[in-house]
Amino acid sequence: MLIDGKCHCGNIAFELEWEGEPPEIPARACSCSFCVKHGGVWTSNPKSRLTVAIGDGSLVSKYAFGSRTATFLVCSRCGTVPLVTSEIANHLYAVVNVNVLENVDQSWLHRAAANFEGEDVEARLARRKRNWIADVRIIVDGVA
Ligand SMILES: [Zn+2]
Repeated sequence: MLIDGKCHCGNIAFELEWEGEPPEIPARACSCSFCVKHGGVWTSNPKSRLTVAIGDGSLVSKYAFGSRTATFLVCSRCGTVPLVTSEIANHLYAVVNVNVLENVDQSWLHRAAANFEGEDVEARLARRKRNWIADVRIIVDGVA
């Protein structure tokens, strides 16, 4: 099905194509310091396709920390964090925040805690290549 998501003000919106009616959506509450402070709960599916439409690119704050291999896209107008991207060998991967999904029943979410503290950078990138959304398109101000 086609899952819609957007930040509170709508500046960062996305469509996520996901197998299944209803889809089974893992929801991982990440225990990193950023996600604890933001209440970040993420999902991805390597077979899904993500199209992100950003209305005003100047109102998107990109935040990275630690190994700086992941970039949090924060809407600087409403403060929501709808997605995280990671560029690995010139390929863009992403996970999306289940809290910004619009047309999803809460019963479709399979919630679990996630702790990636012990990973080194190599293991982290390998995991993202396996699990994150690998078909990601981001359109800013109408330009791909
Ligand atoms: Zn917003």
